[in-house]
Amino acid sequence: MTENINLTEQLKKYFGFDTFKGNQEAIIRNLLSGKDTFVLMPTGGGKSLCYQLPSLLMEGTAIVISPLIALMKNQVDAMRNFSEEDGVAHFINSSLTKSAIEQVKSDILAGKTKLLYVAPESLTKEDNVEFLRQVKISFYAVDEAHCISEWGHDFRPEYRRIRPIIDEIGKAPIIALTATATPKVKMDIQKNLGMMEAAEFKSSFNRPNLYYEVRAKTNNVDADIVKFIKHNEGKSGIIYCLSRKKVEELAEILQANGIKARPYHAGMDSATRNANQDAFLKEDIDVIVATIAFGMGIDKPDVRFVIHYDVPKSLEGYYQETGRAGRDGGEGQCITFYSNKDLQKLEKFMQGKPVSEQEIGRQLLQETAAYAESSVCRRKILLHYFGEEYTEDNCGNCDNCLNPKKQVEAQDALCTVIETIIAVKENFKQEYILDILLGKETSEVLAHKHEDLEIFGAGMGEEDRLWNAVIRQALIAGYLKKDVENYGLLKVTSEGHKFLKKPKSFKIVEDTDFDEEEAEETPMRSGASCAVDPVLYAMLKDLRKKMSKKLDVPPYVIFQDPSLEAMATIYPVTLEELQNIPGVGAGKAKRYGQEFCDLIKKHCEENEIDRPEDLRVRTVANKSKLKVSIIQSIDRKVALDDIAVAKGIEFSELLDEIEAIVYSGTKLNIDYFLNEIMDEDHMQDIYDYFKESTTDNIDDAMEELGDDYTEDEIRLVRIKFISEMAN
Ligand code: ADP
Ligand code: MG
Ligand code: ZN
Repeated sequence: MTENINLTEQLKKYFGFDTFKGNQEAIIRNLLSGKDTFVLMPTGGGKSLCYQLPSLLMEGTAIVISPLIALMKNQVDAMRNFSEEDGVAHFINSSLTKSAIEQVKSDILAGKTKLLYVAPESLTKEDNVEFLRQVKISFYAVDEAHCISEWGHDFRPEYRRIRPIIDEIGKAPIIALTATATPKVKMDIQKNLGMMEAAEFKSSFNRPNLYYEVRAKTNNVDADIVKFIKHNEGKSGIIYCLSRKKVEELAEILQANGIKARPYHAGMDSATRNANQDAFLKEDIDVIVATIAFGMGIDKPDVRFVIHYDVPKSLEGYYQETGRAGRDGGEGQCITFYSNKDLQKLEKFMQGKPVSEQEIGRQLLQETAAYAESSVCRRKILLHYFGEEYTEDNCGNCDNCLNPKKQVEAQDALCTVIETIIAVKENFKQEYILDILLGKETSEVLAHKHEDLEIFGAGMGEEDRLWNAVIRQALIAGYLKKDVENYGLLKVTSEGHKFLKKPKSFKIVEDTDFDEEEAEETPMRSGASCAVDPVLYAMLKDLRKKMSKKLDVPPYVIFQDPSLEAMATIYPVTLEELQNIPGVGAGKAKRYGQEFCDLIKKHCEENEIDRPEDLRVRTVANKSKLKVSIIQSIDRKVALDDIAVAKGIEFSELLDEIEAIVYSGTKLNIDYFLNEIMDEDHMQDIYDYFKESTTDNIDDAMEELGDDYTEDEIRLVRIKFISEMAN
């Protein structure tokens, strides 16, 4: 019955999405045809939908096993929004009362419930198993399946009991889902769940919407972070610190700067900790400052930035943590503050540990350092680390691609490196190879008598920074490989041998020297999506927040940011039109839509906005594209001189545009810029002049105010004045 079904139609009907993400459709078809399914998809890839949609289409109830009790309620709330039937989704865990459980059971028996979320420990309870034996099960979904494996990052012994219990309840297809892609974990999951034959769907781990940047960590790092957050006001963000003490300190600093931030770490009492997490999910606060204890399974889709205050201990960790940004496919800025001093500190911390553990820890840390110092595309390095090849020349969304460094020819250098590695019989690590190249007579070198090699000191003409860059980029290019099992010994691949025989051009970019570099300004980036009508967008966000308080659900459960952005662009005013918005299906439209439609309608009437009949694109009423984009940039508090540069116009032309905007009745707040370039008194003098004056003519003002004030300054303050007074 479900074989030939038009899934895109069903997707639209229930979830309001127009297209599937990645492999979703193939995965769902596989499950619908009754086969076991194994899904490897990065965080934010859209795993939940792979079992939610089929559950609605198949006969019976799907059982979803998920490790996090706290998040079950959110998932169930979200599901209920897609349907008009409250009983469509339920959960069973230890927090439910007896009578609540009775309600759940009666809904299931009445055939209302398509999805039942259970914690593994509830699944193992005798009477639950007994009850479920009478129920028609459509399939079993094992979410966060890496919890089965001791090699994963979150082992749960109860997860190993899942297979025997499934056998007791009754056979049905299994779908296992995880974001941990290492082969060892994968094997464990398949063995343990008895699904060796399952069809496997592995997605790319590339997250194109995430922007990666590494900045030098200076003494001003706290101020840098405050500044960054102020530039991103109102957006949700996570800041990771390594120590609990720093978490507390930084949260306090942010609060003192008027930022709504709270701390989170494992040393806090659980009530406060949970309250802080809740405040973040419900958007009572914008920023959570946390140790890595925070985040596993946090399903907040609109985290707009993740900052690493300290260098991450491993690239796996870095990938998971940054992965919490931009899950809805929207903006996700990942900023890491890096310093060599931090690196040395971390290495020192490890000294108390067993030697083998120290060695692994150091390896992982070296990988992170290499990532940070490299000038190669961040995405390329990250994906290479996960065994994936990224072939684009420029990803357009990382600091290194946006500010590419000059490439230098390293053909000869690579030959020297390969020869050196061969000369020491591929039995040494990168640091040792560097010692040979640079002719350092360390005790280890002397012990191996390597100072007698012909190649010894062949690289003395160049700095170690260059040699490191050559080796790292040769690894990415596949000329060298690291034997990870053996402490990272460097080996030459067959490609490497070919290269040595017949050298060809090998261009590299030099690493960044973080000792010399001062913290630079962030480059302007594109990609941050934005509504055409920022005023309406802000109003819609407020409404969503109010409703979320009233209904006690997180805001994004109602509508997600991309949906609100679309609303503030195409102005739907009826429930029917609302369903044209991405992410809004019939269920959601009915449940929440009316108030949003009313608000949009009122806004359109009050501002005489021409709504296009066909409701596809908005004709921007009386505002040229340039003006709209200036308004958006000012909204995002981009410095005005930067806006002028970005738009390719003179500063004075920009002021012309801005004046036209405020004179036509749109309020603009440029205080953030004025405060930066002018001192308080100066500004106040000009402001007072306009307050007293009967004219706003610039020439008059210049004459009256005298030489201490430039024309630009006067015009800027006049913009502020008009905006505040007249509008
Ligand atoms: P994962 O469990 O893989 O980390 P989720 O299932 O939580 O990811 O989904 C991440 C986000 O992607 C959610 O906000 C979800 O609404 C959104 N999403 C899922 N599928 C689609 C789709 N086909 N189109 C648009 N957005 C989607
Ligand atoms: Mg998930
Ligand atoms: Zn890049």
